[in-house]
Amino acid sequence: STPAAVLSAIAAGGRQGVLFKGGEHIETAGNVDAVAFDKTGTLTEGNTRLTDAIARPDLAVSARTDRSAGTGADRETGTEVPMNDDDLLALAAAVQSRSEHHLAAATVDAAVDRGLEIPDASGFEAVVGKGVHADVDGDTIHIGNVRYFETVTADRSIDGLDRGIDRLRSLETDGKTSVLVVREASGEQGTGSGDGAGSGSDDGDLRLLGWLAFTDTIRENAAETIARLREAGVETVVMLTGDNERVARHIADEVGIDEVHAELLPEEKVDHVEALQDRHEAVAMVGDGVNDAPALATADISVGMGGAGTDVALETADIVLMSDDLGKLPYAFSLSRETRKTLY
Ligand code: ADP
Ligand code: MG
Repeated sequence: STPAAVLSAIAAGGRQGVLFKGGEHIETAGNVDAVAFDKTGTLTEGNTRLTDAIARPDLAVSARTDRSAGTGADRETGTEVPMNDDDLLALAAAVQSRSEHHLAAATVDAAVDRGLEIPDASGFEAVVGKGVHADVDGDTIHIGNVRYFETVTADRSIDGLDRGIDRLRSLETDGKTSVLVVREASGEQGTGSGDGAGSGSDDGDLRLLGWLAFTDTIRENAAETIARLREAGVETVVMLTGDNERVARHIADEVGIDEVHAELLPEEKVDHVEALQDRHEAVAMVGDGVNDAPALATADISVGMGGAGTDVALETADIVLMSDDLGKLPYAFSLSRETRKTLY
């Protein structure tokens, strides 16, 4: 039967907002010497917001001229697509209204906040860890990171891509998760006037329309939590994230993590947990369950965020931090360690 010391540790944890889902987890948690953190929703609050929706400046200029002059003369520039920042955001929101991703929700929220009319989208598809596309007004709109455009549209040239990638890199260095928006015109340049239905079998032209950037708030006690974990004897602290390398580094620097593995697919997070297990006694993974459920299941101890966390994390986690308080993590491990000492 469960030792009295374990029962009283479970009760003590409960009073502090740390829910142990069983006595055996106290024993394992007392041995943790490596902790892997998910980024989004774990080290950050997960309240992703759109900070920038920027139409390619040359397209925006043409749109403004077009609208103020109203002469139609600018149309001689051929395939230029008039586009301002709000047009770009409305198009992106059309595609993202079909997605469940946190970047998608932030895009739609921003469009709604600006009072934009969001067009209909159809044929939505997501490419895990890379981006999404859907058909809007007869064209295909692609939204994704650099890897998306290296793979999904890899063998085809995209007008303006290099410039977009430059912008992305600098936004990411500032810690903003960023994606490009690219329009794939359906066959002819027009926006689908009646008889175009049969002519669009060939791939259309690809053109950068602009870019979007997002930010998320780092939890205020994240840095302190990581420092206290180290004091409590945790040898190795790493970040495992699907997000971009530069964004991940920026956040890792702020919270004091030096080992960062970025741009990971959910299965690759598992590989990293297993690699940590090879060289440590017990590995804990802390996550919110979005994209990290397999890694949580692989770790010796999984820690879920109780407040904003998903049901997945709550159901499968060995330890739940109620009310999302990351600061309780060092306490959970030292309580476990102390309890373990009384058992052996
Ligand atoms: P994370 O939860 O860390 O963002 P994901 O694997 O969900 O990890 O996403 C990794 C990256 O894939 C994102 O940072 C983004 O670049 C791209 N991505 C995923 N989903 C979308 C989406 N709906 N729209 C645009 N980009 C996306
Ligand atoms: Mg997450």
